[in-house]
Amino acid sequence: MPKEDRIIVKGMHTPIIDEETFNIVQDMIKSRTATRVKTYDWLLKGLVYCKECGKKLSIVPQKNQIKTNFYLRCNTYANNTHLGFCTPHSNNLEKITNCVIEQIRTRCKKFLSEEKYKKIAITSKDKIIQDKFNIKNELLILERKIKDINKKIDKLYEDKYNGLFENEDFSRLYSKQIENRKQIEERIKQLEKSEEKEDLSVDIKKLVEDFVNMKEITRTMLISLVNKIEISENKEITIYYRFNILNSENKNKKTQNVG
Ligand SMILES: [Zn+2]
Repeated sequence: MPKEDRIIVKGMHTPIIDEETFNIVQDMIKSRTATRVKTYDWLLKGLVYCKECGKKLSIVPQKNQIKTNFYLRCNTYANNTHLGFCTPHSNNLEKITNCVIEQIRTRCKKFLSEEKYKKIAITSKDKIIQDKFNIKNELLILERKIKDINKKIDKLYEDKYNGLFENEDFSRLYSKQIENRKQIEERIKQLEKSEEKEDLSVDIKKLVEDFVNMKEITRTMLISLVNKIEISENKEITIYYRFNILNSENKNKKTQNVG
């Protein structure tokens, strides 16, 4: 195949939606459907893990005369209490929830005060706009190429009709153009898909600002920032954020005691 007829379809641009963002949205969608069916809805559901054994913590209701309190409990401990595989990790849910929110807020405030992080957040937004422009541009070029190929195919038929080709030559040239067109069409589909996804792109700074400013923290806000929360038997909380930029603090000093 001559060089000018070649079309390279892979890796022309970096993907518009990074994996991180994609996963957030998937989890947000999942959590919307999952939380409706269960009996006990709680803000941290599915996010809290036992620091010691790595299993999820679940909640246990405890009624007294005034109201029902909920306590966290390690699933390993609950299922194998007599074997002593883990410890109870019993914590008042409301207390832990407040501590977690406070800890995230503190981190978010710090993020906003750090100028270099601000710059990174803005840059990533610029990048999205640039990618959007690149996609539009590439789509235009590819559509033009499809038109050209269709013209070439028409010409082949014409030439064949006029007896200018052996059947064998015609088939070879024809299938080359068809293959060419197929590749371009696949690339167009790919680009159109990333264009659709684009609305889901995440502005980290906006998420962080919401968390700092909103009085009421919703499940969606929490999930869009946090991947996982670990709670140790001695009540230390470690928060794992979805964005590495927010995790950088974990490397130095991470935990906060519930007290
Ligand atoms: Zn455990």
